[in-house]
Amino acid sequence: MMVLYKPYADFLMEHAIDPDKRRYAVAAEGPRHYIDIDRYGAYPYDSLPVPVKWNDAVVKYSEDSLHAHGIVPWWVNTMLYRLTDAFKEKNQAKILKYSAEIGHYIADAHVPLHASSNHNGQLTDQKGIHGFWESRIPELLADKEWDFFIGKAEYIKNPLDFIWKRVLESAAASDTVLKFEKELSKSFSPDQKYSFEDRNGVTIRQYSSAYTIKYNEIMKGMVERRMRQSIYAIASFWYTSWINAGQPDLAKLSNKEFSAEDLKEFESLNAAWKNSQVKGREHE
Ligand SMILES: [Zn+2]
Repeated sequence: MMVLYKPYADFLMEHAIDPDKRRYAVAAEGPRHYIDIDRYGAYPYDSLPVPVKWNDAVVKYSEDSLHAHGIVPWWVNTMLYRLTDAFKEKNQAKILKYSAEIGHYIADAHVPLHASSNHNGQLTDQKGIHGFWESRIPELLADKEWDFFIGKAEYIKNPLDFIWKRVLESAAASDTVLKFEKELSKSFSPDQKYSFEDRNGVTIRQYSSAYTIKYNEIMKGMVERRMRQSIYAIASFWYTSWINAGQPDLAKLSNKEFSAEDLKEFESLNAAWKNSQVKGREHE
């Protein structure tokens, strides 16, 4: 699949964050990024027979309450169908767009705090932990120290089951993420815990390097591990879509240019996102 994806690595990187930008433009977008699974009781959430199919869940909980608590595992499945259809159509622009977007949702499903109602530590006086885990730690350590060579993608027989398992792992890990940070913060004074850094002319407060390194250490490399698993999962979902579409020849695709409609959408997503930054809304 290198023939298709490698020349578009920059496109995939740039558009992987489109779903986050869309949150500022489309109200229905938010719930696609998480699931507050603790709303369904305690682990292993017996009231929610995993992997629960969307239609069964709607009957049991109603669509409104499912949306209220987040729908990421089901949305990954929806995106898998869209991507598979794009491969069937041999529509390169669609394939690239959906590949970038499904990658976003799959990665979100691997983030422990995307599977907890205490998603930013707001219930336990740990505000900021969301960005700490998913941005600050990898920004400090990923390039220099982490290994993202994960080997070959594999065919996933039951994608809904697969993504539900990953979500349950995330939910189980969210406890550790919160508890360990709480514990660690007791042994750091506020001026050791935070540092100030200049970013584009603005001074921002962030978790200090020493604190970040120590936290990563006591979690025994959890962030790197989840990133590796999500890379493997994304590659495997791409591969699975292609197989399920009948393995079309990727050197002979049509629709290589993005449509006027696509370009307009990219533009409006950027505008909505920039507008939200100006207003200073919190980005998650
Ligand atoms: Zn997201």
